Amino acid sequence: MTRIKFVNLYFTDLIGVFRNTSLLLSDEKDPSSVTTLFDGSSVYGFLDISFSDVILKPVKETEIVLPWDKNVYGYISQVYLPEWKRLDRDPRYIAEKAEEIIQSEGYRSVMGVEMEFFLFEKLKYIVEPGRQILEIYSAESPWTDNASIPLKKGYHIVESIDRVAHIRRSIISALHEAGLNTVKHHHEVASSGQVEITSNKENVVSLGDFIQYFKMIARKIARINGFEAVFMPKPIMGDNGNGMHIHVSLWSGDKNLFHDPDEKYGLSQFARYFIGGLLEHGRSLSAIVSPTTNSYRRLIPGYEAPVYLVWGYANRSAAVRIPLANIDNGNMTRIEYRPPDPTANPYLASSAIILAGLDGIKKKIDPGDPIEENVYKMPIEKRRSLGIRELPRNLDEALDELESDHEYLKPAFSEEVIQTYIELKRNEIRELAGIPSPAEFLYYNLI
Ligand code: GLU
Ligand code: MG
Ligand code: MG
Repeated sequence: MTRIKFVNLYFTDLIGVFRNTSLLLSDEKDPSSVTTLFDGSSVYGFLDISFSDVILKPVKETEIVLPWDKNVYGYISQVYLPEWKRLDRDPRYIAEKAEEIIQSEGYRSVMGVEMEFFLFEKLKYIVEPGRQILEIYSAESPWTDNASIPLKKGYHIVESIDRVAHIRRSIISALHEAGLNTVKHHHEVASSGQVEITSNKENVVSLGDFIQYFKMIARKIARINGFEAVFMPKPIMGDNGNGMHIHVSLWSGDKNLFHDPDEKYGLSQFARYFIGGLLEHGRSLSAIVSPTTNSYRRLIPGYEAPVYLVWGYANRSAAVRIPLANIDNGNMTRIEYRPPDPTANPYLASSAIILAGLDGIKKKIDPGDPIEENVYKMPIEKRRSLGIRELPRNLDEALDELESDHEYLKPAFSEEVIQTYIELKRNEIRELAGIPSPAEFLYYNLI
């Protein structure tokens, strides 16, 4: 009897859903040499049913062995049309193009990500098809039966109170077993079960690959432990939401171009131009980095999530923050873009952030003075006099912005990709707008 092994070929559709097809292979064959076809019309944003065959070609460097089943190899794959033409709408291809642009300008990127998510013991779906379930949660215990931490009091809580520290460690161990390194982890600010795990990656593409593997592995390990990993930006009213902050610095060889020892806090003018690009395009970027209707429930004052397009040193109310840890070490100088959340397609989000920043560098857009105060508390007159703009208030508004401001994305995103993305997202808004919510019931049943 020949022994077999399984090979998962992974890809990401246009809105960010991670998917795979599975092959079986006799044990002596090289799993990275396989290719296969799938139906490109059955995933978001790829092809029409009239011409739907696409090919998956594994990328060898993305090999993992599933930590929970050592007989399964996995590869993130490139998507091709017949005759080996790259599929323009493959988000990883867009990230590869963004990476090529960085390199053709003579730079290399160093990226980092903070993955925030919830571990819920019990997930109560509020809406089920054909049946509306109304559940009212008390503020003390919004989702779990025995939440032990009050709202907004969970930050860095010790293990004797933290009920999910062991799951965090299991997730990290599984990631490391699969060759995916992380840096640190902790309980986050929200009540029971909000966690953060951080990592650094060497470029836009590998950051996207990491985030997709991360979410898959975190979900699986959480389930093995009887929990559910939830990446929605704002699952709990009144408590902090989940961000997916992206850190960036651009380098030339061994020199961090974001660092200049003669400038305040070591931040170079080059980095300031990058920030200028992010703030200039911040409203249209939102359609890609905060891409769900739920994203905008997170982006409200009072929860350390950004609302205003300003930058600051160590300022958590700003969209761009310059972390001041290790400022003596020029290698650590970087910017942190805070609007993204974990529902963003990571390939599109990191590509768009880089392209906005590069546009700022090219056009020498200075972002003005940093804001050193809590912008949530700044009087509206002062905000107006400083010309401070807000992030969009909802997804529709963000898509309007993307419609009118996307030239800066064109080096990596084709016009067709942008239009397809906008159409998919407008449909998503329409579908969700048709679902009555329990909160509406509470408000409108009084009238
Ligand atoms: N959870 C916050 C957010 O929604 C961020 C907290 C932090 O600064 O780590 O972005
Ligand atoms: Mg955090
Ligand atoms: Mg952060």
